[in-house]
Amino acid sequence: MPLKVKCPTCRKETAWEGNPHRPFCSDRCRLIDLGAWVQERYRIPAEKLDDLPDNDDDDDVSFTLRLLGSWDVTGSNNDQLA
Ligand SMILES: [Zn+2]
Repeated sequence: MPLKVKCPTCRKETAWEGNPHRPFCSDRCRLIDLGAWVQERYRIPAEKLDDLPDNDDDDDVSFTLRLLGSWDVTGSNNDQLA
């Protein structure tokens, strides 16, 4: 019984053995998944920039964002205003 796997991209069942694109069903699906992975990789450092105090120019902005964040977490001010 030949081993089958589901393509992570399109969920189609595809043969594991003798499949040059495994675990994907085709080169296209492999590239789609690779593209998604690369996008994830570039997005994560961009999101973390707010937490890094590396950039002196951004200090005021980060501080303001942090203040706004703590207000959001602790305060019920927004609820009272709404
Ligand atoms: Zn596929």
